[in-house]
Amino acid sequence: MTLEQIKENITKLHNELPDCVKLVAVSKFHPLEALQAAYDAGQRIFGESRAQEIGPKHAAMPGDVQWHFIGHLQSNKVRQIVPYVSLIHSIDSERLLRCVDGEAGRIGRVVDVLLQLHVAQEETKYGFTLDECRALVDSGTVDGLANVRICGVMGMATNTDDESEIRREFRAIRNTFDSLKASHFAECPYFDTVSMGMSHDYRMAVDEGSTMVRIGTTIFGEREY
Ligand SMILES: *Cc1c(COP(=O)(O)O)cnc(C)c1O
Repeated sequence: MTLEQIKENITKLHNELPDCVKLVAVSKFHPLEALQAAYDAGQRIFGESRAQEIGPKHAAMPGDVQWHFIGHLQSNKVRQIVPYVSLIHSIDSERLLRCVDGEAGRIGRVVDVLLQLHVAQEETKYGFTLDECRALVDSGTVDGLANVRICGVMGMATNTDDESEIRREFRAIRNTFDSLKASHFAECPYFDTVSMGMSHDYRMAVDEGSTMVRIGTTIFGEREY
């Protein structure tokens, strides 16, 4: 993509997405010029999945960018990202949640997080099963952690051409959010985020109740790993 195309892609997505859906521009592996082009077109939320990219990109980009961590997070990388992130999408174990809480407390922050749900068919994807997520919240553990704020859930659908399967999985994510909201977070206005939908499936995700889409390839083109 040229820088002009990136700007156009951002503008198109801003026009297309309903006001209640936030766009995370997934900029992992892309250079600063690409991020700056998206910024110039009005984009302020960027998603990264490698811990070591966040610090340098944070230092180089304007101060009003919000950095989201979206990839699998290892406990030993938490310290690298906690000073810079405004939202971690990928909390996939109680241990990781406690680790983020501890690190945030150490530097005097409260960090917003999402619980990642595993609904896809692929074994390779991370996250809590719906039962595990429910058990974690019901256990009360999350209420005792003063330096993390649970703001919702995140999930990925199976990478398949079967649209009914993708929609079924998105609905399961949305239903889990609604059920947690009703039983545990009814008095928490900040529990408002359902992060689902990527380049190839975000329209279906929005249909099924996403409030935050994570889009990389459609904006920036293919990544070079
Ligand atoms: C890379 C990534 C995305 C963006 O994927 P695209 O297909 O490029 O839009 C979204 N979510 C997560 C968790 C990712 O790792």
